[in-house]
Amino acid sequence: MHIMPDRVIDEAVENAKIVDTHEHFSDAATIVDEGADLFAVLPRGYVGFFDFHPGLAGSLVQFTRYPELRAMDFPGLQRFVDGYREHEFVDVLDAGIQHLHGASVKRITEDGFKALNRAIARSYAEAGYRERVLRGLNVERVICDVPQHSMGFGPGMAAEFDPAMYRPAMRINSLLFGFDPAAWSPGTCLMRLAAGELEAIPAPPSTFGGFLDCVDAILDWSKGKVASYKCATAYERAIDFGAAMDAAPATRKWEAAKRAFGRPFRETAERDRLAFGDVVMHHVLARVEGTGIPLQFHTGTAIMPGSHPKNIEPLIEAYPALDFTLLHCGYPWIDETIDIVKRHANAHAEMAWLQALSRDAAAAFLTRAIAEGLGHKVIAFGGDCACVEGSAGALLVLKQVVKASMEKCVERGTVLREDVEEVVDGVFYRNPQRLFFKEGG
Ligand SMILES: [Zn+2]
Repeated sequence: MHIMPDRVIDEAVENAKIVDTHEHFSDAATIVDEGADLFAVLPRGYVGFFDFHPGLAGSLVQFTRYPELRAMDFPGLQRFVDGYREHEFVDVLDAGIQHLHGASVKRITEDGFKALNRAIARSYAEAGYRERVLRGLNVERVICDVPQHSMGFGPGMAAEFDPAMYRPAMRINSLLFGFDPAAWSPGTCLMRLAAGELEAIPAPPSTFGGFLDCVDAILDWSKGKVASYKCATAYERAIDFGAAMDAAPATRKWEAAKRAFGRPFRETAERDRLAFGDVVMHHVLARVEGTGIPLQFHTGTAIMPGSHPKNIEPLIEAYPALDFTLLHCGYPWIDETIDIVKRHANAHAEMAWLQALSRDAAAAFLTRAIAEGLGHKVIAFGGDCACVEGSAGALLVLKQVVKASMEKCVERGTVLREDVEEVVDGVFYRNPQRLFFKEGG
């Protein structure tokens, strides 16, 4: 059945203020250094693969990486884009490229390719280009997960990312593998950064007890500085961390974690590595519970089936005074995510990236969440990109998704036409604002 475009829905979605809860923005200078062309932009929108989850050193990564753009010439790019089948990444990025630069990257001609590269370079030559685009799309605030910029606290972040608009997320994954800092990419190892340029701790720890003290010091230091903690460790291990009581001091798991500390990754048993991560995870959560800072947890995709959202349910239960967001709605397990969000007051669903995985799944998720009375626990937008073209595309596509979902909700009577504006404002603005910017700061 074709549904006529609905003015009320259209206007509600187009006029909504937006809080963007998840981005990985590169600074403009880096994109300019790389030529400010399609080869700099494409990988930053998931197409062609940029390092979105800097973590374990290359050879230790188990996750099957997305296709990478390697041939940096016109025929190579053309072949790559037109043959790309990974989720809906191309469509989403292309929506942003068309919106901002007036042409599509699909089935592109060589002249079109050159013209597009010129248009991109012109845009990046403009100071404040990214902010102009975001503001033009009604984006008011952005949470950036940028561990490659010293966790988003370094001078690069402060200079380019105005704190009135951008707030960092602190990525905690590296702590879970902190028994061997050499196993982690040096530029994103939280413990190293904390002891170095962030000066959050005096020196890297040399004992397991010292390590946990340093974790506490880093978390305490981060209060008032971060909008959230972020865990993307589904790219490194299963997100099953066992029960809190099994990870307490003097348990078998604790002893295994202690044993692993200071030993090279390859000389540890997987059981001990996981024990270390489990103990550190519970230690971190106990420390951040009650601080009012939420934890954004990557669920779904990555290493499957270890990323199943059910795996973190024991954590959600064990730390009721800590708000968890299930990033990407646990795709492909979106129904299970609805179920978890429904049963736990401290569980929320973030649709970030979901529209780039599957527009149909994103619309189905939102429609069902609203029908189940969970509209107040849905956070609709995170562009999850390292370039503004990708984020703009993600928002434009998401707006279509939200409109389609609202039409269904109105048709089914789960949302009254006079309530559309409030529901849309909730998922785009009020819900993320309440969760991540509690003090209005
Ligand atoms: Zn992300």
